[in-house]
Amino acid sequence: MALVWIVERETGEWAARPLSGEALGLGERGVEPVPVDAAEPLGPVLRRYGAGPAGRPRWALLAEPGRKVRANGEAVETGIRVLRNRDLLTLAGQQFVFSTEELPFAEPVPEDRIGTRCARCTRAFVSGEVVVLCPRCGTAHHAMETLACWSYRPRCATCDASTSGEEYAWTPDSL
Ligand SMILES: [Zn+2]
Ligand SMILES: [Zn+2]
Repeated sequence: MALVWIVERETGEWAARPLSGEALGLGERGVEPVPVDAAEPLGPVLRRYGAGPAGRPRWALLAEPGRKVRANGEAVETGIRVLRNRDLLTLAGQQFVFSTEELPFAEPVPEDRIGTRCARCTRAFVSGEVVVLCPRCGTAHHAMETLACWSYRPRCATCDASTSGEEYAWTPDSL
């Protein structure tokens, strides 16, 4: 699920807000769901916008020209901008960073991985198994009770992505 990073007012730290639903308003209080048909004149809105790679939803920023929202420092002249990973949005001195990073999740082994080998136990995947694809490097690991290759260690077998399911590999601190 795509998400937006915002600075938490209480702690001053970046916090992840997963983007669920169809439309979310961008404002002083961060991101909040808004009715789809009331996108204007409430303010800038993040709107689900078709599907991208692997069927994951894409998101667009909708803002009437002249609004003070900027994306990577540029005004949204056309009123719409399809968001890309790590786009920096600014509004009234507040920063929002869009990210397409997914937390790891278990899923049936994708067809194109059947017969390839698990990076942890090196056994070949067979149809019907459950795996986690590392959200950072894409490497497949078993994720079953009997073969918990993904969670067996704190990091992915081939990169340093966390296997805890709670920790994003990238945060805006590295901007
Ligand atoms: Zn395995
Ligand atoms: Zn990895």
